[in-house]
Amino acid sequence: MKPITANFRSKAAQTLNNAQIQQSIEHVYTGFFKGRLNAAGDTPEWEELRTKGKAIKDHTIAHLDYYLNMLADNVEKNGGIVFFADDAEEARQHIIDLAHKREIKTVIKSKSMVSEEMGLEKAMNAEGFETVETDLGEYIIQLANETPYHLIAPAVHKSRTDVAKLLDDDFKEGDPVPDATELTMMARKKLRGVFERADMSVTGVNFAVAESGSIALVTNEGNGRMSTTVPRVHVAVMGMEKIVPSIQDLSTMLRILIRSATGQRISTYVTMVNEARKTDEEEGPEEFHLVIMNNGRQNLLEDPQMRESLNCIRCGACLNACPVYRKVGGHAYGWVYPGPIGSIVSPVLTGLKDASNLPSASSLCGACHDACPVKINIPRMLLELRWRTAEGSTDKNEQTSSAKERTVWKMWRLGMMGRKRFDIGARLAGLALRPLSRNGWLKKAPPPISGWTSTRDFPLISSGSLKSKLSKRIGRSK
Ligand code: SF4
Repeated sequence: MKPITANFRSKAAQTLNNAQIQQSIEHVYTGFFKGRLNAAGDTPEWEELRTKGKAIKDHTIAHLDYYLNMLADNVEKNGGIVFFADDAEEARQHIIDLAHKREIKTVIKSKSMVSEEMGLEKAMNAEGFETVETDLGEYIIQLANETPYHLIAPAVHKSRTDVAKLLDDDFKEGDPVPDATELTMMARKKLRGVFERADMSVTGVNFAVAESGSIALVTNEGNGRMSTTVPRVHVAVMGMEKIVPSIQDLSTMLRILIRSATGQRISTYVTMVNEARKTDEEEGPEEFHLVIMNNGRQNLLEDPQMRESLNCIRCGACLNACPVYRKVGGHAYGWVYPGPIGSIVSPVLTGLKDASNLPSASSLCGACHDACPVKINIPRMLLELRWRTAEGSTDKNEQTSSAKERTVWKMWRLGMMGRKRFDIGARLAGLALRPLSRNGWLKKAPPPISGWTSTRDFPLISSGSLKSKLSKRIGRSK
C-alpha cells in the first residue's frame, strides 16, 4: 500500500498554486481564528477554563478503562447497546451487519470524523445501502467525492460557484452564483426527502458522559437533532478517548470546544442523547447503539510521549492557527485528520512509516500549542516523531531516513559539538560549494541538500567564521 503522505509535496504544491482555494481557505483565519481570539477575549476566565479542560482530559485518559466501563454500564442501564470495536474493520462490519438485520434501506449520517476514519460511507454504499451525509459541508464533499478538508468545516476550500455546480444540476458557467442562503435552501430541499425515508442514522459523538451514559452532539444546522430523532435506529460512533466523567465536566468542555471551534459562545444546537424512545413516547428512535472504537488509540495510550494527543477534542483551532495548514490545505495531509494534530495522530494510527512526512510539515512556531483549548503540546510531539523517523526508534519500521541521511546528520552533530571541528567543517563545506556558486549564491546545491535550493538560492558559506572576522576588524580599528 502507498504511504498516506506519499503525495504530500505534490498536493501541497497544487494547493499553493490554486488561487481560488487559497482565497477560500483564508476563512479559517479571518473567520475561525479571529473568532476564537474574540471569544477568548470576551471570556475573562478563559485561561482558567483551559487549565480545567486540560486537567479533565488528563485525568480521564489516565483512568480511561474505568470511565469506559462506567459509560458502557450506564448506556446499557438506559437501554442502549454498546459495542467495543478493536479496529475500523470491526466497527464497520458491526454497523453493516446491524443494518442488514434491521432491513435498513437508507442511512443518514451526521458529521463524524470517526466514521470517516472507518470508511463507513463507501463500505455501506458497496453493500447496497443508500448512505447520505446530512451536515451541509459533508454533503458537499460527498457530492464532490472528496474527503474533508478541515475538522469542523469539511468543505471550507469550496467556492460558492463550486457548491452551486454540485447542488444544482442545471447550473452553467457564467450563471449568476446563488448566495449562501439560496445554496443552503437547495441542499435543504434535497435532504428533506432523505430524512423522511431514512431508517437508520449514524452520528458522531462530541463527548460521551460516563456518569449518565449520555452523548453530546454539537451542531449548527440541526441535522444532528433530526438524525437522532427521525430514523428508527440510531448508531453513535466514537473514538474511545471522547469521554468525560461527569455532566459538570461536560459543561466546561462545551464552553472551550465551541469557542475554540467557531468563536461562538454556544452552538445553535447542543443535543444530548440518553436513550432510545420509551414505550409511552411518540418520538425518537426505537434503538440506540454506541460503537466505541480503538483503531490504534491504545498505541497512543501506551506511549507516554504521545498519550497527550488523546486529549484532543477536535475543535480545529490548531489548524486555523497553523501557518502551514493555512497554505497547504487539508488534502495534502493524505488522511482524515489534517493540520498539526493530524500530523501526530495519523502517524501513530496508521504507522509512522506511512506518514513520515507529516511531522516535518510544521515550522514549530508553537501557534498550535497557544491555540489549543486543552493545552496540548503539539510541537513537542512533532519533534519526538521527527526524532523517531530519523534515528530515535528501535523499531526499524518507524525509521524512514536512509543510512546516507543518518550519516550526514551524525557528521553534522559531530561538527557542531566542537569549535575547532565546526570551523574546519564550515571552511571545507565553503570550499567544496564554491565552484557551484555564482556571485556568492548557490542556485543548485548537490544531494543530499538539493531540496534546500529547489525553491530558493542559498548563500555561500563564508570562508571565515564570524569570530575571526570580528577579531580582524577589531584588530584593525585598534
Ligand atoms: S489539538 Fe487542540 S487545538 Fe487541535 S483540534 Fe485538538 S483540541 Fe483542538
